[in-house]
Amino acid sequence: MGRSYWFECPKCGYRAKVSGRADRGLSFCVQTILCRDCQELYDAVTRFRVPDESQGLASFAGWRRGKLPNPYRTISSPPGFQSVLNRLPQTGVKRFRWLPFKIQCPVSALHRVRSWNEPDRCPKCDIYLEKNALPYRLWD
Ligand SMILES: [Zn+2]
Ligand SMILES: [Zn+2]
Repeated sequence: MGRSYWFECPKCGYRAKVSGRADRGLSFCVQTILCRDCQELYDAVTRFRVPDESQGLASFAGWRRGKLPNPYRTISSPPGFQSVLNRLPQTGVKRFRWLPFKIQCPVSALHRVRSWNEPDRCPKCDIYLEKNALPYRLWD
């Protein structure tokens, strides 16, 4: 069971709803990251569970893109947090395996990111963010 929280900057009012650390749900794992180029916090998907079948990789890529010119290339970039949340449930699958991903900015793989673990600083003004005590959302 993963949890997202609101984090808010007391100085500039920046707000983000992220896990604030490494977290895992039933079918995927996330790590909160800070992108220095976007000056934003994101939850990056670090591991994603897929059916361990011969067509597993292809159906995963197809699910992401709708079509798959080259599943082995598109698989190298991690799915977005929202898209894994909104995915169809994997029913009737008996065996799974985990696809690992390097953390990267969802906007561009070229952006400079680092992992962000609370308590940590505002991506815009370097003040420590305040965490809302109540989870914003339970996921997975
Ligand atoms: Zn700030
Ligand atoms: Zn970025």
